Amino acid sequence: MSERLISLRNVTKTFGSGPTAFQALKGVDLDIDRGDFVAVMGPSGSGKSTTMNILGCLDVPTSGDFLFKGHHVERLDRDQRALLRRRYLGFVFQGFNLLARTTALENVELPLLYRGEDKTARHKAGMAALDKVGLADWWDHTPAELSGGQQQRVAIARAIVTSPDVLLADEPTGNLDSERSVEIMKLLTELNQTGITVLMVTHEAEMADFARTIIHFKDGLVERIEGHHRPALVGAA
Ligand code: ADP
Ligand code: MG
Repeated sequence: MSERLISLRNVTKTFGSGPTAFQALKGVDLDIDRGDFVAVMGPSGSGKSTTMNILGCLDVPTSGDFLFKGHHVERLDRDQRALLRRRYLGFVFQGFNLLARTTALENVELPLLYRGEDKTARHKAGMAALDKVGLADWWDHTPAELSGGQQQRVAIARAIVTSPDVLLADEPTGNLDSERSVEIMKLLTELNQTGITVLMVTHEAEMADFARTIIHFKDGLVERIEGHHRPALVGAA
């Protein structure tokens, strides 16, 4: 039995206005079930990041419906969207986006600081998240002292420290070599198996192979959706 977590219905996104207006999304329809591991693929400029930013409540559609757990996100105001984002979503970016001169643990604790959690709770959850990505021993190292793969692991720990329902990752392995990329994919697979719905943008078929569903974008539209028909691990347990 699958539970629908996210739906986009005829979502468009236009950047700018007047003669320079550009329609990046032209009517996107997609559904994502809880527990899925989705890879988003497609040529550069096809609308992958625009879609991820909308799904991540970092941006809003120009028109169309965005349903999260059956609620119309496009009807929420900015503050309500921010709450939804903090409560249910975790983000990983291609460039890691860690604070320099700040330890791995402090980076991971940051979302909890924004939530107003006290130091003891932050420390405990931060260390648990670092442990999940295999970096507990590196908690006091700054990003400059970590490899690219380790930095991305810290970024993933920061994304999961709030126990989100969904992990959104836009080209998380874009700056990594193939060996490090596969390690990150294995980590995302493990997290998916613990119950987190994973949505990831990737250019590489080898990385998309780790996903259960592949959504192909072309020219601002979903071109086709491929299912690997792997049994859903979540919900079966
Ligand atoms: P992808 O992630 O698939 O490479 P994007 O979603 O980033 O593509 O971009 C889709 C299209 O929208 C591109 O043509 C891009 O130039 C344009 N675009 C994206 N963001 C903006 C923006 N903030 N302002 C104007 N155009 C944008
Ligand atoms: Mg992109």
